[in-house]
Amino acid sequence: MKTLLLNPGPVTLTERVRRSLLQPDLCHRESEFYDLQDEARSRLLDVYGLAADNWSAVLMTASGTGAVESMIASLVPQDGKLLVVQNGVYGERIANIAKQYGIAHETIVHDWMSAPELAAIERRLQSAGPFSHVAVVHHETTTGRLNDLTELGALCRAHGARLLVDAVSSFGAEAIDFDEGNIAAVAATANKCLHGVPGASFVVAHREAIERAASRTYYLDLARLARMQAQRNTPFTPSVHAYYALVEALREFEDEGGMSARHERYAALAEQVRSGLASRGIAPVIPPEQSSVVLRSYDLLSGVAYEPLHDALKAQGFVIYAGQGDLSKRLFRVSTMGDLHPADIERLMRAFDGVMR
Ligand SMILES: *Cc1c(COP(=O)(O)O)cnc(C)c1O
Repeated sequence: MKTLLLNPGPVTLTERVRRSLLQPDLCHRESEFYDLQDEARSRLLDVYGLAADNWSAVLMTASGTGAVESMIASLVPQDGKLLVVQNGVYGERIANIAKQYGIAHETIVHDWMSAPELAAIERRLQSAGPFSHVAVVHHETTTGRLNDLTELGALCRAHGARLLVDAVSSFGAEAIDFDEGNIAAVAATANKCLHGVPGASFVVAHREAIERAASRTYYLDLARLARMQAQRNTPFTPSVHAYYALVEALREFEDEGGMSARHERYAALAEQVRSGLASRGIAPVIPPEQSSVVLRSYDLLSGVAYEPLHDALKAQGFVIYAGQGDLSKRLFRVSTMGDLHPADIERLMRAFDGVMR
């Protein structure tokens, strides 16, 4: 029995992407590798229809956190100041990265169940600014909440700050208005909504932001990575196989209709999970209209602990995901990323019936 991953990455691979890992061994100093790197970079811009004159997709060998770290450590200029909007684990992680690098920053902390409060953010921008940048997590995977980038971007524009977005679990499946959204950069990874394998991640940055970059980090120095990749070069040995898979996943993504098709596909699967669980008495923790289509959180039934639920579903071929921190007792999470189909969700619901009997 094939195990299906309902955790937020790595995802269940399609056979097409899995087979792409078996291509010829490749030296990263040969033209074939630079062709691969070029294709990945241009296809990443194509996901959101971005012009290469203004935007650059910069690849790196790291998990999603590496791309977020590269973005934060590089794109807040030496004399800049960062405001970090927190409403979950990944917002906290951005603040920890800023602290680690000694970047001038403040945090605005929300309860993990809450949406960012724009009025409070505006007050902070006024009272403690000027801030050069505001960092936010687009899809806060802690709860499945989709944070609104449009209103926040407009607020930042009014206060002369640009957005740095952790879109690790939304890139490719949720709308992002790069050109109108007052965005300096977005960080993401190959192995979530794009359906690649772990090991390749990237930052899509505005060229002006790269020009003003600081050089606080050696390996993750975004400006150097951007410069060398533009010259068909690379400073270090990339995860060639992860790049093979990323390119194949991006080709498949295009063949399947691109970002809007992926959004619709996830939305249908997420709704199938929601309605199926609702009819079994299990409610979502965040209202669907405030959630991503990528992952949703559900209340643990009173009296059902996560571990036995997880283990029983795993025995039937489904890996669900625990809540983080204090939420581990309150909720479980179901992602609909990867090679999942309506028939799989039907089987998942029958597995829930078996567990609940
Ligand atoms: C998965 C995820 C990350 C990065 O996690 P890695 O384990 O480093 O790949 C960062 N931010 C968000 C919102 C995520 O969902």
